[in-house]
Amino acid sequence: MANSFVQNNGVASDYHEVVIVGVGMTGMCQLHYLKREGVDVLALERNSEVGGTWYNNRYPGCRFDSESFTYAYSFSQEVLEEWDWSERFAAQNETLRYTQFVADKFDLRDNIEFNVSVKSAHFQETENLWKIRLEDGRSIECRYLITSIGALSTPTLPRFDGLDSFKGESFHTFHWPHRGINLEGKRVAVIGSGSTGVQVVSEIADKVGHLTVLQRRPNWCAPLKNGKISPEEMSDIRDRYAEIFETCNSTHGGFLHDADPRGFHTVTREERLALWEKLYDEPGFGIWLSNFKEIFIEEDANAEFSEFIAGKIRQRVDDPAVAELLIPKDHGFGIQRVPLETKYYEIFNRDNVNLVSLLDEPIERITESGIKTETAEYEFDVIVYATGFDAMSGAFDQIDFRGVGGQKLIDKWSDGPMTYMGMFVSGFPNMITLLGPQTGSYSTNFPRAIEAVSSWSTDFVLHMRKNGKIRFDAEAAAEEAWCEESQASINQRLLRNAKSWFHGFNANVKGHDTLKPRPYIYVGGNPKYVRRLTDIKNRDYEGVTIT
Ligand code: NAP
Repeated sequence: MANSFVQNNGVASDYHEVVIVGVGMTGMCQLHYLKREGVDVLALERNSEVGGTWYNNRYPGCRFDSESFTYAYSFSQEVLEEWDWSERFAAQNETLRYTQFVADKFDLRDNIEFNVSVKSAHFQETENLWKIRLEDGRSIECRYLITSIGALSTPTLPRFDGLDSFKGESFHTFHWPHRGINLEGKRVAVIGSGSTGVQVVSEIADKVGHLTVLQRRPNWCAPLKNGKISPEEMSDIRDRYAEIFETCNSTHGGFLHDADPRGFHTVTREERLALWEKLYDEPGFGIWLSNFKEIFIEEDANAEFSEFIAGKIRQRVDDPAVAELLIPKDHGFGIQRVPLETKYYEIFNRDNVNLVSLLDEPIERITESGIKTETAEYEFDVIVYATGFDAMSGAFDQIDFRGVGGQKLIDKWSDGPMTYMGMFVSGFPNMITLLGPQTGSYSTNFPRAIEAVSSWSTDFVLHMRKNGKIRFDAEAAAEEAWCEESQASINQRLLRNAKSWFHGFNANVKGHDTLKPRPYIYVGGNPKYVRRLTDIKNRDYEGVTIT
């Protein structure tokens, strides 16, 4: 065990070879992988349970956009045998139960301290250790610090005047009361129309007295087409798990969906329309990921497909003026994250639902009784903020990370993140940033990337141990090159034009209200990313100085 190695070096007892911060899907996987190798590992979790995203987000309608059986962990045959998914796209409570089931199965809770928040993590240069301070005043030391603190775990509220003056109930979707809230007969406002807002309003429209959807920029949404999984279907899925995961690991996005192999320009318009009609009718992200590649690279191809989707919106929304408001004009389909929806557009045909376009009448302030826009005043009982997250780097900014020479991570990343493979930060030795900015995870079905990076970092920790090494640090040149490669992966796609959390943009957060010069994501695809990680390992961890 690493512990005895460390004790030989006279290190204090409140010490673990590895400390993992955050026990959502990523932290759980990493914890299990290290634990089964006998590594002395402690995981710290600010919630009272495992599950991360699936623990925190309790808003009505919260569910996967990934097929449940492709989102599952693939590492345990036993879990695959024992867990049944009830729906093609499972709801939040089912996924939370799944994470709890996995935690129980592998006794993960034995290595987790719950209800603790990390305040700071400072690298101790002489001892090559991290000193972690907790909000409760305690401190813990570790050789290796692994962060799995979530890409979308720091919710952001708008910077409206009067936010606290509202006398009714108001909350961010991330803080939807766990006790639940009765919306029957209530006048409810939902601000925001990203994936979260779309899910919430679709679910509550027929349960509230009156619903007002306050939309700034509309998104291109497409049908989720959820459905139950029968016992026979589950049995078939179980028989095909190996094949399912093999396919997911081979596709750009880590899903069963993969780009149409025909070229956009090599087929007729009729053939394009036939594919699009088929995809619009099928479940999940096929409409995005099984489409022609050119749609996400060429402006004209994108415009033609966007017009097809606009036609669908016009068909589904009765009032032509409302339909036009719901059609994005500032970006094409798939350039930002596509929210998948269940009867979203149809809610606007209901008498108790109205759409307010904040592009036409921006919000001036929140009042005691509701919301005042530039042209009207609305009264509400409940205001829901589906206003998104300080994505990717936000969770890092909450913790005072300091590396070599006391350098603050927040300062190093002031122009946007700099990482090597999204896993290491030069000048912050002995730290692994799982699912941090610039990992391959952002171009994939998260758990497929989670398993790959957790396995890679486990091998890395074992490599350090086997070779009696106690310090690693990414080389600045390798970091620079990865930033460039990440930027190049974006530049090749129309995604470069997105003004969204993909690029760390969030108008509600000072410093993130303009686009940063550095990339937040790598979108070269999961297979390429995993190959790069494997090559690095095979070349004796090229780009990392190990001492
Ligand atoms: P989001 O995509 O960032 O959307 C935030 C929404 O709030 C946008 O419509 C934004 O409008 C609006 N907004 C923000 N600040 C505003 C302000 N001051 N005034 C008016 N409107 C404002 O956040 P999200 O919907 O929470 O989704 C984030 C990500 O979480 C998704 O992209 C997805 O990856 C993940 N997610 C996944 C699922 C799933 O798997 N099913 C479900 C939910 C979320 P603008 O666009 O004009 O800024």
